[in-house]
Amino acid sequence: MKKIRIGIVGYGNLGKSTEAGIRQNPDMELVGVFTRRNPNSIHLLTEGVKAYHIEDAANMTDQIDVMVLCGGSMSDLPEQGPEFAGMFNTVDGYDTHAKIPEYFDAVDKKAKSSKKIGIISGGWDPGMFSLNRLYAEAILPEGKNYTFWGKGVSQGHSDAIRRVEGVRNAKQYTIPVEEAMERVRKGETPEFTTREKHLRECFVVAEAGADLQKIEHEIKSMPNYFADYDTIVHFITEEELERDHQGIPHGGFVFQSGKTGFHNESSHIIEYSLKLDSNPDFTANVLLAYARAAYRLNQEGQTGARSVFDIAPAYLSIKSGEELRRTLL
Ligand code: NAP
Repeated sequence: MKKIRIGIVGYGNLGKSTEAGIRQNPDMELVGVFTRRNPNSIHLLTEGVKAYHIEDAANMTDQIDVMVLCGGSMSDLPEQGPEFAGMFNTVDGYDTHAKIPEYFDAVDKKAKSSKKIGIISGGWDPGMFSLNRLYAEAILPEGKNYTFWGKGVSQGHSDAIRRVEGVRNAKQYTIPVEEAMERVRKGETPEFTTREKHLRECFVVAEAGADLQKIEHEIKSMPNYFADYDTIVHFITEEELERDHQGIPHGGFVFQSGKTGFHNESSHIIEYSLKLDSNPDFTANVLLAYARAAYRLNQEGQTGARSVFDIAPAYLSIKSGEELRRTLL
């Protein structure tokens, strides 16, 4: 079997997880990792595979079938997404929800001109959660959709705490409020305030001699990040942070609560949940399934941008249609 030749752009958490994920897909092989840093400073785990400077990618368009873009959504992907779609089939996990429409258009334009496929916003949210919201809403149009996140680490909120004066290091967990989820599970369709759905738990390492009360107050009153939530602040030592908070877990729940019947007499609950030990590992595996789809769609002659909504599930699987019908249908 000819393997799908994968390149990785950006070697952070997601890039490393993508490298690991390729090992679980026998129809894929890693060709190279492309970074803005000195490639000699990057140590790959895959034997016989090299890191290249990102600018070398343009000379390797005939050696790579799909580029998995692992840069950050805030400032890397808005540039790298369209740029790489102008040369390669691409997949990414772009997660700035409000800007997805304009990002899609930018990738679409480039992917059409290069006659490639660019799959944007894979991963779990956006990604698997988006798909579940769509399926649920299409099936139970008279209903209400709820997404709860966590328990998981929010990188953005952890960064925000680190910017508070007197804070040396911090980790923030987003936690769904169990009572709120129970109400949804019972078939109620409440309107929740922000505070009623999630709480925020912070583990903070303070500088020696810092005013802990002041730090706690500043965190809890921070607009956009914490002010609208019930927030718990724990002060811990650097050693405790290192020992107990190294992982990047995440997950969450998508619910649809809906009614059917001529008089809306039947209630239905759809619940999809993820409990992820490693957010980047899971996200990478989703991106790799979509990399397979990107390759196949492009082999069929399709071009342009796609989101998870546009791709039939069979394109994700290594199994043939016949095998899927026999084993999973
Ligand atoms: P990250 O670790 O911060 O990596 C982002 C980029 O920063 C890397 O591609 C890398 O580019 C650079 N970098 C990483 N480590 C570095 C270091 N030590 N020194 C200098 N530069 C370094 O971010 P991530 O955790 O991989 O996440 C990437 C994006 O995935 C996030 O921004 C998020 O938007 C998205 N994501 C989406 C989902 C979803 O469900 N859709 C889930 C999780 C994450 P170079 O190699 O070029 O330097």
